[in-house]
Amino acid sequence: MKRLLKIFFVFFILCGLRINVDAQKSTISTVVIDAGHGGKDPGAVGKYSKEKDIALSVAIKTGNYIKKYLPDVKVVFTRTSDVFIPLYKRAEIANKKDADFFISIHCNANNNTRAYGSETYTMGLHKSDANLGTAMLENAAIMFEEDADQQYGGFNANAPESYIQLTLIQDEYQDESNLLAAYIQDQFKNRVGRRDRGVHQAGFLVLWRTAMPGVLVELGFISNLNEEKFLKSDEGQSFMASAIYRAFKQYKIEFEIENKPKENGVIVIATGLEYRIQFLTERVMVELSDPRFSGLTDLEMYQQDGLYKYTSGHFATFDKAMSTLSAVKAKGFNDAFIVAFSKGKRISVKDARSLETSLK
Ligand SMILES: [Zn+2]
Repeated sequence: MKRLLKIFFVFFILCGLRINVDAQKSTISTVVIDAGHGGKDPGAVGKYSKEKDIALSVAIKTGNYIKKYLPDVKVVFTRTSDVFIPLYKRAEIANKKDADFFISIHCNANNNTRAYGSETYTMGLHKSDANLGTAMLENAAIMFEEDADQQYGGFNANAPESYIQLTLIQDEYQDESNLLAAYIQDQFKNRVGRRDRGVHQAGFLVLWRTAMPGVLVELGFISNLNEEKFLKSDEGQSFMASAIYRAFKQYKIEFEIENKPKENGVIVIATGLEYRIQFLTERVMVELSDPRFSGLTDLEMYQQDGLYKYTSGHFATFDKAMSTLSAVKAKGFNDAFIVAFSKGKRISVKDARSLETSLK
């Protein structure tokens, strides 16, 4: 019997081998937002909320932010209501849509009710028992699946050795997955003020089966009263969703700059140099959906010296930014001006222009 299981396992691994036949993509055009659990599978259960409900709310909010502010990205949800979807089906949905990224949204839980904070996982071998434990909790979802034995080749969600086998194969998307994971954690920490538990690896069945970069976000611990309260609140859910959206946006912009064919011999790639049009500075944070901003595209906010600064557009050259400046002023922002960034950090326009010239 043991031998048979082993044969099954090898078969299971071979079937799951990721084959990348695509030519190098240059844009991020489809993202799958996966709300963990659902229906008969509640996920982790807190004092007065269930993981499946929080995951769904945050997933939908995240997808809606992306739809609204990145209209060139197609958003695919694995579920938009309280229904049960097997893990393999979620990956199937993403693979069929040829998605460029898979983002799975969850809440963590621990017997230690003092544990709290956000963490983001990518596919890989766990380095700690705690990380293995998280994967075990999440993979336990297959216990609700009737044909799990067939679908996962006898994978035992509770056996540590199963996880070592699962992660034996090098994940070709690891770098991209880890990059978005880091951006998400950065947003959680610096923009939402959550405790940053870091980026980790573990063997998640749902990520293993997706043929694209993917992350599994643990928003926080539903088993911690304070965190549960935050995650259950509409405001908390909006904050977490907008954080994931901004991280995704940063990833997309950088990915597309890096994979962009050279334009007139200008290599924007190495420096991540870009110009934006800054049209507003505020002492308090304003939502990007503020009605005043309607008509402006490609909005972004960054913090500097305790102020919130709002920009529109991303331009590879100063001239391109200049040609759009008057249009922004015409929307009622007469004081709008051009700012420059290198790899996401603000630099002087003078430095940016000389950098731009030196690259020509
Ligand atoms: Zn979960």
